Amino acid sequence: MADDQPETISLYQQMDQESLSLDSRFTFLCQADLPCFNQCCRTPTVILSPYDLLRLKQGLGITSGQLLERYTRQEIEPNSNLPLVFIDAYRSPKGGCPFLGEHGCTVYPHRPAACRLFPLTMGSRVTPDGVVDYYFRRRLDYCQGFAAGVEWTVASWIADQGFAEYDQGRREWLEILLKAGLTERLVVDAHIQDLFATLAYDLDKFRRLVFDPVFLEAYDLEAEALEDLKTDDLALLKFSYRFLTTVLSPEGARLLTAVIRRSTKFFEID
Ligand code: SF4
Ligand code: SF4
Repeated sequence: MADDQPETISLYQQMDQESLSLDSRFTFLCQADLPCFNQCCRTPTVILSPYDLLRLKQGLGITSGQLLERYTRQEIEPNSNLPLVFIDAYRSPKGGCPFLGEHGCTVYPHRPAACRLFPLTMGSRVTPDGVVDYYFRRRLDYCQGFAAGVEWTVASWIADQGFAEYDQGRREWLEILLKAGLTERLVVDAHIQDLFATLAYDLDKFRRLVFDPVFLEAYDLEAEALEDLKTDDLALLKFSYRFLTTVLSPEGARLLTAVIRRSTKFFEID
C-alpha cells in the first residue's frame, strides 16, 4: 500500500465531512405527503454492489445481464480504476430512477443498500486491522425529512432499514475495491476491467462460465460445491469474490482469460 493513503475512502463524493458513530442521533421521517416526496429518486447517485444486483435481479425475476442492460450504467472508480455499476437515472427523457413509480419505489423490498441507508451514507478506510466504516449525513436542500420526525441513532436506522444484510453481502467486494485503490503496482487495463465487471456484476454469465467444461477442467471444484453453485445465487456470488482477487493478479488474469477464450458458454446470450 502507498504511504500517502487517503484518510477515508468513499465510493460517494457528496457528504458532509463530520462523521457519525453508531450512537449518533438524528431526526428523520420520510412520508408520502411531503412536498419533496420522490424528489430524491429523480437524480439519485446509487452505486450497486454485486449483492444489490443479485437481490434486484431476483426481485424482478430477470437475469443479471438483463438487469445491467436495462437499468444500469458503469463508471470507472478513480482510485482503483475498476468498474462500478450505478442505477442509470438519465436513460429516459423524463430522467429519474427507472424503478421510481407514481407511488414511490417499485422495488422497495429489494432496494439497494444506498437507498436503505439514505439519508446517511457510508465511507470506509482500510487500516492494519481491517476496514473501518464511517457514517455521514447527506443533506439535500430539498429534503424535508429532517425537519421533524422520529429520533434515530445510526444503529437503529440501519436495523430498521434492513441495511446490515446488504452490507454483509457486499463486504468482500468493497474490501477488494478499497485495497485495489491503495495498491500502486496494480495495473488495471480495459481487459481487467471487463473481467472484473463480468465476475462482480453479471452473475448469470459467471454461472455459465463456471459450468463450462473448460472452466471445470482448469479449476478443481468439489462436486458438492458445484451443486450449490448451480442453484444458490449467494453461494455463486461468494465464489465470484474469490475470482475478483484472482483477476487482479497477472497469473490469475492470464489463466482466466485463457479459460474464457476456450469457453463457449461464456459467450452465450441471455
Ligand atoms: S423526505 Fe427526503 S428522503 Fe423522503 S422523499 Fe423527501 S427528499 Fe426523499
Ligand atoms: S431504487 Fe427505489 S429508493 Fe432507490 S433511487 Fe430508485 S426508486 Fe428511489
